[in-house]
Amino acid sequence: MTKAIRIHTNGGPDVMRWEDVPTPEPGPGEALIRHGAVGLNYIDVYFRTGLYKSALPTTIGMEGAGTVLTVGDGVTTVKPGDRVAYAGGPLGAYATERVIAADRLVILPDAIDFTTAAAMMLQGMTAQYLLRRTYKVSAGETIVVHAAAGGVGLILCQWAKHLGVTVIGVVSTEEKAELARAHGAAHVIVGHANLPAEVKRITGGTMVPVVYDSVGKDTFMTSLDCLAPLGMMVSYGNASGAVPPVDISILSAKGSLFLTRPTLATYTTKRDDLERVTADLFSVVASGAVKIRVNQTFPLAEAAAAHIALEARQTTGSTVLVP
Ligand code: NDP
Repeated sequence: MTKAIRIHTNGGPDVMRWEDVPTPEPGPGEALIRHGAVGLNYIDVYFRTGLYKSALPTTIGMEGAGTVLTVGDGVTTVKPGDRVAYAGGPLGAYATERVIAADRLVILPDAIDFTTAAAMMLQGMTAQYLLRRTYKVSAGETIVVHAAAGGVGLILCQWAKHLGVTVIGVVSTEEKAELARAHGAAHVIVGHANLPAEVKRITGGTMVPVVYDSVGKDTFMTSLDCLAPLGMMVSYGNASGAVPPVDISILSAKGSLFLTRPTLATYTTKRDDLERVTADLFSVVASGAVKIRVNQTFPLAEAAAAHIALEARQTTGSTVLVP
């Protein structure tokens, strides 16, 4: 038997149950891994509440790092004893042991421990594809990053600065503003009420070529007003709720804007892409350009407390669940 956090119904943090489950057997192409650490991500909240749908009961969680125990037929990319990590579907990370397709696993460099790996895979790969592919930032540009002191946010700030980009971060408290500044944000705005005016002041009226907006409902319109003509609105999350349907004529009215709603899954479906994105991430972490901040850890059995903190905006940087 193994232990897992399972949900039998959608709802608040109290629907998460710490249960015994049979240890799964790896089928062809799969590996059984023992988690050393599990990553906490906002997407776990969406699956728990039902904003994102899954069959029930289920074990939530999309990110982990650990040791390969056994592999199924045909697996050549990993072997028992390998230190590995992954991020993305299918669900099932909130468990001491799990089975996953071996081609979703990457071998960890020796210098990256399980806690760091579980903290950085999903949020770090997201920062990579947002900055390097969705809108490929260039040195000298100024960009807006929402939730700049959060998990994805702190990585985005550091990585963008490393690329020569000026970050205008948006956060909810002065304490978070300090943290975002310490991680590379050149300007930090507390609250988004006056964001377009602040962006106008900082850019001398030019506005920005891209906004990375993970907040969703509360900030969507404000973010559009920060963009220069032909700018790119990257709406990649819903921490405040899903963005309601959009009348696309607003994009023409505000200057022939581009709008995308990207997901990490799309950007890493192909094995080549997964390898390229993780190699880039491992390299900025190894060089020290991006530091992974594990600012909270919780026992995996107490994942409910971690969800409460995340939804109450009490966390900063990354959070790891310890099996
Ligand atoms: P964060 O650590 O960023 O936590 C969420 C933050 O959002 C909060 O700390 C808070 O920062 C901000 N926020 C704003 N409004 C609210 C609200 N009403 N309720 C709660 N939080 C709010 O989480 P993650 O780093 O795990 O994820 C960040 C976002 O990126 C999420 O929306 C997630 O879904 C998205 N994401 C998307 C991916 C994709 O591929 N599309 C992949 C990974 C993450 P503050 O207090 O400063 O406002």
